[in-house]
Parts: sequence; C-alpha cells; structure tokens
Amino acid sequence: MDNALIADRLEAFASLLELSDANPYTVRAYRRAAETIRAAAVPVAELVRSGRVRDLRGVGPGIEARLRELVETGAIAELEELERELAPDLVGLGRYLGLTARRSIEIARALGIRTAEELRDAAAAGRLRDVPGVGPKTEARLLEALAREDEPRPRRGLLLNRARDLVDGISHLLGGETAGDVRRWRDSCEQLAVVCAAADPIPVLEQFSELPQIVALIERDERRAVGVTVEGVPVELVAAEPERLGTALVRATGSAAYVDALEPLPDGPDEQAVYAALGVPWCPPELREAPFDGDPPELLELADIRGDLHSHTTWSDGRASVEEMGRAARERGYEYLAICDHTPAVGAVTGLTPEDVRRQADEIAAANEALAPFRVLRGIECDILPDGRLDLPDDVLAELDWVQASVHGGQRMPRKEMTARVEAALRNPHVRCLSHPKGRYIHRRPENELDLERVFEVALEEGVALEVNGLPDRLDLSGEHVRAALEAGVEIVCSTDAHSPRGLRNMELSVATARRGWATAANVVNTRTLSRVVRDSTG
Ligand SMILES: [Zn+2]
Ligand SMILES: [Zn+2]
Repeated sequence: MDNALIADRLEAFASLLELSDANPYTVRAYRRAAETIRAAAVPVAELVRSGRVRDLRGVGPGIEARLRELVETGAIAELEELERELAPDLVGLGRYLGLTARRSIEIARALGIRTAEELRDAAAAGRLRDVPGVGPKTEARLLEALAREDEPRPRRGLLLNRARDLVDGISHLLGGETAGDVRRWRDSCEQLAVVCAAADPIPVLEQFSELPQIVALIERDERRAVGVTVEGVPVELVAAEPERLGTALVRATGSAAYVDALEPLPDGPDEQAVYAALGVPWCPPELREAPFDGDPPELLELADIRGDLHSHTTWSDGRASVEEMGRAARERGYEYLAICDHTPAVGAVTGLTPEDVRRQADEIAAANEALAPFRVLRGIECDILPDGRLDLPDDVLAELDWVQASVHGGQRMPRKEMTARVEAALRNPHVRCLSHPKGRYIHRRPENELDLERVFEVALEEGVALEVNGLPDRLDLSGEHVRAALEAGVEIVCSTDAHSPRGLRNMELSVATARRGWATAANVVNTRTLSRVVRDSTG
C-alpha cells in the first residue's frame, strides 16, 4: 500500500466525516495527515508496522489507529460504513446542485432513493415537488441545474492548492497530464481537466470512474467524461488519440479566449508539434489568459529564487523556531531567509515589542552561527496603523535587515484614507516591501479599497517593492496586478509568508502568480544575492 493510496483513503475519510457533520478540527486533522503522508519520503505503511508513524507531523493516536487498521486490513471499516450510509455520489451530485449534504439526504429519504441516478430520474419524473419543503421555485432551480450538468463548472472556484492536489492526483493515477485552470495556475480554479493519451479510450474512462476522488460520472462520451468529487466539484477527463494529444492538451488547458484565437488547431502528438504547425512560438500556460501569439518573455523560474523574505516563527503565530525555519530554507537551496514576525497591533496573535525584537536578535545570531554561510535575516512584518504610522519606532526598524509593512486591522477603510495610510507607510525610509498589498482573502472578503496606481507611484519613488504573497488563499498581488506593477516599473518580491517549514513550499504558487503577471527574474528582488538584497536595504 503506497503513500498516495493511504493519503487518498484518509482524504476520502475526511470528506465523509465532513458530510456527516463531524467536528471540523477532526476533519482538518485527517486532511493535514493525508497531505503529510502524500509528501512523506518514506513508506508510511512501514512506519505503521514498526510503530513509528507518530513521528510524522500531525499523526496522533486517533489517526495512528486508523492507519494501522488500513495497513493491516486494507480498509477502514468506519469509512466503508460512511460510504454506504452517505451515498457519496448522491451527496456529490447534491453539492453540485447547491444542496447541503443534510438536505440531499433528507430529499433522498423522502423520495425513497439512494443514488445520484435515482435522484435524476425522480427529478425528471416531476417527483421533487412531493418532497416536503421543495416548492415550485426550488424544483425549477434544481431542474435547471440538472439541465446544466454537462457544463462542467463548480459554482465557486477551488483554491489553487486544493485544485492542484485534486487534479494532479487524478492525472498521476491515470498517467495523464494536468490541464485546465490548474495548469494555468489560476488563483481560483473552475475548469478542472486531465488529458490522457489512449488509442482505446475505454480502459482509461473506466479507471477514471473508479478513482477514489470521483464519486459519480455526470457525463460520458466516447473520448470524454465528467466526474464529480464528493464535494460536488466536476473534473473533466479527455482521452485523446495519441497523435492528437498535443491538440487536446492545448484545448483543455484553455483559456477559451486564448484557444479560440488559435483555432483551427492542427493535430499534433504534443504541444510543441501543434505550435510548430501553427507557426507560433510555444506559450507558457500562465500566459494563456488572453489571445497571444508573440514571443513570450523569459519568465521567472522557481530556480531563480535565492531566498524567502517573509516568514514567521513561534515568536508570533508561526509553528517552528528561527533555526528550524532557517534550516528548512537552507535545505531548499536558498541563501537567506528573513524572519518577519508580527508586531503588537496585529491583535489576534502575539506581536513583537521593541524588547522582543532585540531578544529575537540573539536567537537569530545563534541560528546564523549554526547555519552559516546561510543567512537568517532580521526582519519584521510591521503593522501599518490606521493613521499610517508604523507599529514600531524608527530606531528599532533601523536595526533590521528587512522590513515588510502590512495592513491587517481596519481594512474596510474608504479608498482615499486607505491609500493615504499605505502611502505614509511606504514613505518610511526603513520599509522595503508592502505585504499582501490588496489584503485579499480569496472567496472570503472583498479586496481592500486601495488605489494601486498611486501605490505604484509612491513605491517607485521610495524604492519599495510589492509582495506577491504565496499563501494559497491570498496570492496577493494577483497576476493581473503584478503585470500592472511591472509596467509601472515597480519591483516585486515573491514570498511565502510561511508559518512552518512546509509553508516554504508555497514559493511555487508565488512564482507562478508572478509569471502570470509576466515577471522575469530581473523584476524580482529575491532572485538577487544576499549582498545585493541587504546592501540595498542599508544603502
Ligand atoms: Zn500579514
Ligand atoms: Zn506574514
């Protein structure tokens, strides 16, 4: 039993626990353990057998017991029971239709049905209106949603990290390639697609329908199927003839506007062949949002990144020590890492006072001794107070190697006040970078009212860079805003805002977002050597 399979079963268990209204912390714990296991370098089944699986982060006694059961018997009995009871394909279809799990189950009970197929039949036969609480309006809405089942769109996109786990997991199991919004690294993914080469499409379509991630097929043609996950998210599979794989991949990668402008696409076994036949240079997927057939720029690569300039430790709300974070950054091949813990005004978590900042300096010096020549930089994520002043005095900021300024509280300010507040902070000579400039939390709240054009002007005057925050629910600046910043001549920093060593991995999300904004290595501060980053900061 390999790690991917174990992780899939835990993930399925987490989804079903969620459906059965289990404690959200339990659900999250199973999801996190699944992620850890998927990424583990050692065979987890062996750790379970040798009684050492709790060495893995996030695996406590409860999860260990489930893992032992899974490894020893090949199954988790409670998972199978939940799968029977909750009819995941029905719940998945219900989610797709906009129904909560509980409501789907109530409707199924009232109709005396158990499967998604039976729900479709009952709806078609006009039986939905017999269900208590389903009036003509709701019935019409459900019928309309069922009629749209062949348009594979979730109502709200998935965050990029969740979408990547899902789609990359499926393409890996099928030996195919990830396409759709995930391949273009959109910050919210709606079009989820996998392309496989198959002379005979039947086996791969069968395999797709039986994947643990897919609970029901909502559509199936000769070379294409749309499956839905237990969360109701549709995923498209294209089984292309091998000589047309490249063509199918271009189409399934999108965006629709980009592909339409290239049509008619010639047949080709890979993308290179398709582009060559079109007489157009190959285009990185991140640039395929709008029609484009020119020479793409030499985009920033993950390997260009020399260090991470925004990370947290247990001094504020991080989960690892200064040295642990530094060590993890060094293992990634970086030359430097800036520790940027919070300041007191952040409120919800501990913030560093001037005394704390100076005490932390000793810990950073010790880490530097242990990790040399790697450098841990003394940084701060300093709150911008509502009046634009910074949350630490200038003499403290002057001691630091790297100062990020952030708006956390008071984000509902009107545009004029918010812009003046940020402008005042950027005028502080110690500030090097504005963190998550638009303050966005994808799908959770609107972006801050901030005049970015004015911010670009001031940033340019003051030599301040703007962050591309790599937290999957932030991705702030967005690709579109990166492009505007670069056009204005402003530099960017690709950061993770990591709160743990694992969090450092979000650099790929930040880099991809910068690429979507057409960034090259020259535009990005942390592609530079330490001496240039620090010298620039002190001079
Ligand atoms: Zn922040
Ligand atoms: Zn932060």
